[in-house]
Amino acid sequence: GIPNNDGLDWKKAPCRFCGVGCGVLIGVEDGKAVAVKGDPNSSVNKGLCCVKGYHSILAIYGKDRLTHPLVMKNGKYEKTTMKEALDLIASKMQSTIKEHGKDSVSIYGSGQWTIPDGYVASKLFKGCIGTNNVEANARLCMASAVTGFMTSFGIDEPMGCYEDIDHADVFVLWGNNMAEMHPVLFSRLLDQRQKRNVKIIDFATRTTRTSMAADRSILFKPNTDLAVANAICYEIIKNNWTNKSFIENYCNFKKGLTKMGYGLEDNYSFTDKPQAIDFEDYKKFLEDYTPEKVEKISGVSAQDIKYMASFYGNQNTKVMSLWCMGMNQHTRGTWINNLVYNIHLLTGKISTPGNSPFSLTGQPSACGTVREVGTLTHKLPHGVVTNPEHRAHAAKIWNVPVENIPSKPTYHTVEMFRALDRGEIRFMWIQVTNPMVTMPKLKRYRDATKKEGRFIVVSDIYPTPTTDIADVILPSAMWIEREGMYGNSERRTQYFEQMINPPGEAMSDTWQLIEVAKRMGFEKQFYYNKETHIEEIYNEYRRHHEGKKHNMAPLEVLKSQPGAQWPYVNGKSTKWRFNAKYDPACDDGKEFQFYGNKDGKATIWQRPYEHAPEEPDNEYPYWLCTGRVIEHWHSGSMTRRVPILHKAMPHSYVEINPDEAKELQIKTGDKVRLTTRRGTMILPASVNERGVPVRRQVFVPFFDENLLINDLTLDAFCPISKQPDYKKCAVKIEKV
Ligand code: SF4
Repeated sequence: GIPNNDGLDWKKAPCRFCGVGCGVLIGVEDGKAVAVKGDPNSSVNKGLCCVKGYHSILAIYGKDRLTHPLVMKNGKYEKTTMKEALDLIASKMQSTIKEHGKDSVSIYGSGQWTIPDGYVASKLFKGCIGTNNVEANARLCMASAVTGFMTSFGIDEPMGCYEDIDHADVFVLWGNNMAEMHPVLFSRLLDQRQKRNVKIIDFATRTTRTSMAADRSILFKPNTDLAVANAICYEIIKNNWTNKSFIENYCNFKKGLTKMGYGLEDNYSFTDKPQAIDFEDYKKFLEDYTPEKVEKISGVSAQDIKYMASFYGNQNTKVMSLWCMGMNQHTRGTWINNLVYNIHLLTGKISTPGNSPFSLTGQPSACGTVREVGTLTHKLPHGVVTNPEHRAHAAKIWNVPVENIPSKPTYHTVEMFRALDRGEIRFMWIQVTNPMVTMPKLKRYRDATKKEGRFIVVSDIYPTPTTDIADVILPSAMWIEREGMYGNSERRTQYFEQMINPPGEAMSDTWQLIEVAKRMGFEKQFYYNKETHIEEIYNEYRRHHEGKKHNMAPLEVLKSQPGAQWPYVNGKSTKWRFNAKYDPACDDGKEFQFYGNKDGKATIWQRPYEHAPEEPDNEYPYWLCTGRVIEHWHSGSMTRRVPILHKAMPHSYVEINPDEAKELQIKTGDKVRLTTRRGTMILPASVNERGVPVRRQVFVPFFDENLLINDLTLDAFCPISKQPDYKKCAVKIEKV
């Protein structure tokens, strides 16, 4: 229970940071959050937190919190009132629409938006203004997971849940530094290893703290995970380890969606439509991927490939595959997601306890707000803009004419910034995200925001490189300074109440959007009461799911327990989807039903290995891979304000393989110049300290706003998911 003998008022919330969605208890005293601990009653973390969770409340109280709106005048920011700032934003949007059309205004949000934030953003832009210019930063971190699910299963989000960890015998981490990125979940794996004979296999392009704790660390050359996954499938078929009845009853085979560029050219659409093939065609295709052939491509020994195939192939072994950015930030991100599903589908190791392909998310509501509310250009709450029935359903609930909602998606994230560069977009409202640290090929897009005639509004809690490019800065209420809900990686929606007051004039992103909507003449649609608006918005949002297999739990349920997992049917959460034993949405009488696809079957895709768009050459002989560290969360705008986290990791660095460091006479702490075709920067070296990349690769974390590594990265993306690849471009390294 919640402790009540220490004089503090303890309240429950999901953690502010990553997509694990740990339950925390916040101790409040005299209107201030003064203590935080893991909630022992949370099924997610069972009382544990990681270093970020334990310090989360300190991120609220940084000295430089934004407390008043600021407007750029004559090259300087001037303080203004919230009323004046909101008036200005509304009138600027209206004049931009009048002069340049509806598609000249846009909103760019995030997986840190609460469900109500994202819902009202979508309603205002898609339903009322009539533009699909709504995107979120989750495009940069999990879009390939979405398109992987959609192409393989016809419906998004993991079929399993965290409870799979308690049942699995083997955990395969595909390019996933889980010990640093999802630490509490990783501790659940370690806990199982103490209790049972389970194995953790780390399959990655660098050794990390995860590899150090794993039973086996298998390293592959960048981009060759595609070939290794195919080789695992080859071995499974060759050894007759397939689950034949599962394949016959529940799987289709397809090829297609392969002929496409890398997002760098003007036309990057695929030109080959999906096409049915049979098992024999697929088997023949895999002949190019024998372990011996793939050893030469990937650097992974044929023996290790066979080893990985053997536990997927063993019918008595339950296997969980876990991944995050390593697979999703990939110019072939959709394919590599499909390929891991292929392994699970061929062996029938799916949708049963302990057998789970599981894509993790990095933000507290990447699933809840971006994937479920649908804050992407092609999405609607529970639907897509291209479907006339979905548009009609949304328009009815939003109380707008159906013609208001455009039937075509407009710009995905990278294109949205390119459209700003070209002048097609003139107004952009950025909420709770920091694209001037996180966009790839950053200089190009930073320059775009500074062009004549662009108007940028940024809502945030601290000054960042993104507030630096704003014409108007709005101070936002953070996390427990307002009420809301997040949706975590296991389809769990969690509620939190307002516990403390926001500073100065700061208000929630939800309320900022409502106020601007009303000023633009949409009072009828934004009828919400200030005291009860979160409840009203959530209830309205739930109506989008009425009568669907996708029901969300009522608010009373979210308030009374540590969240609920959708589909929420007959008063119960669903732990495993598509399995009739656990998922009440399976209604065709069969053991499994992949109901996202009309025929109830999942798709096994033929996916080739391909080279990356920019590979090392004589001039730029190394791969550059970027990522995160345990101390800092994403762009670091919050965690760098927490003194102990900042002290533990004060700046970025470049991690170099010790053999190459020796050849180049580089030691830890030496200054190293990195140069790509986009730019150059100097960083301190780290050799054999924290992680070790494969040879001819270097790694740089992206949290440091003073060392913007994204000035060097490439803006290539997966043409199906449109998610950029931050893990692979060519770089030159020199000791300074
Ligand atoms: Fe928060 Fe993620 Fe750490 Fe849990 S693992 S405490 S959700 S940052």
